[in-house]
Amino acid sequence: MTVLLIAETAQGRLVADPVARALTALAPLGDVHVLAVGAEAAAEAATLSGVTKVLQAEGAPLPEALANLILSEVKAGGYTHVAAAATTAGKATLPRVAALLDVMIIPDVTAILDADTFERPAYAGNAVQRVRSGDAVKVLTLRTTGFAPAETGGPAPIDTMTAPADPALSTWVEDRIESTGRPELTSAGVVVSGGRGLGSEENFALIVALADKLGGAVGASRAAVDAGYAPNDWQVGQTGKVVAPDLYIAVGISGAIQHLAGMKDSKVIVALNKDEDAPIFQVADYGLVCDIFEAVPELTAKV
Ligand SMILES: Cc1cc2nc3c(=O)[nH]c(=O)nc-3n(C[C@H](O)[C@H](O)[C@H](O)COP(=O)(O)OP(=O)(O)OC[C@H]3O[C@@H](n4cnc5c(N)ncnc54)[C@H](O)[C@@H]3O)c2cc1C
Repeated sequence: MTVLLIAETAQGRLVADPVARALTALAPLGDVHVLAVGAEAAAEAATLSGVTKVLQAEGAPLPEALANLILSEVKAGGYTHVAAAATTAGKATLPRVAALLDVMIIPDVTAILDADTFERPAYAGNAVQRVRSGDAVKVLTLRTTGFAPAETGGPAPIDTMTAPADPALSTWVEDRIESTGRPELTSAGVVVSGGRGLGSEENFALIVALADKLGGAVGASRAAVDAGYAPNDWQVGQTGKVVAPDLYIAVGISGAIQHLAGMKDSKVIVALNKDEDAPIFQVADYGLVCDIFEAVPELTAKV
């Protein structure tokens, strides 16, 4: 069995963390070839342990063109599995590949039991579904937070590929990237998240100060994002990012099921809330019933 792993890239560089974690998830299936767009990203992918070969492609990694490229590789290369991390890019590309191959997409896989059998969460993480696929090629996205990143090793050999004609259905116009200097939310060891309890964008500075003191990333509930207290790429939950840090601190967050879907696999959960009946306390390892406007500055000063 040979797996084709589609690497995530940004500005020509490899987004290493999800690729390294996906390699750990896929290792039991056999050889893993990594498809990376751009020479620099391909060279970075080749240094990860568990990569048998890197296929270097050129062009913009837009889903329409990339899906055609993957399709031609699968047809030529005899791959049994095509995988990517369940990031925005992975989720935009792999269902297209599955449809072009006329097979099912298997999304958000959390465990690979054998070549045909996979586990994935359903109902906002409240049930684990075990699915068996009879498709000739399994196309899956991986929820990578539960897997340790592969070490560096290699280097693996790099083959350059000839891409099929770009269908030219889409073009890249611009990127708007927020650069904060903080760790990336989905791979941070510590995440401090704020909810509606913060009450305003200005008050969100309390969350940012605590996160910076702990060297962590900043997260938010959807209510905080919808109210304009925090940017939308900070949202944690079912319709935001899924995180599993060593420490998750939820501040002024009630713990709605859709929020828990994005953070309940964190190793240690701390909740600060004035309502002792808030559902967040049911998943918290440590909880403090408090006024966050007093407790958070005190906590920040003491760590
Ligand atoms: C289809 C769908 C998808 C969704 N996806 C997501 C998602 O991805 N992520 C997500 O987060 N939500 C999501 N939601 C929304 C979710 O249902 C909740 O509405 C949201 O999580 C609530 O956010 P919150 O906890 O910040 O706000 P609230 O539920 O309003 O909670 C605010 C909390 O702050 C506390 N508080 C207020 N003031 C203070 C104070 N001074 N000191 C201490 N505590 C205080 C209150 O006691 C309360 O518990 C989704 C909903 C739907 C329907």
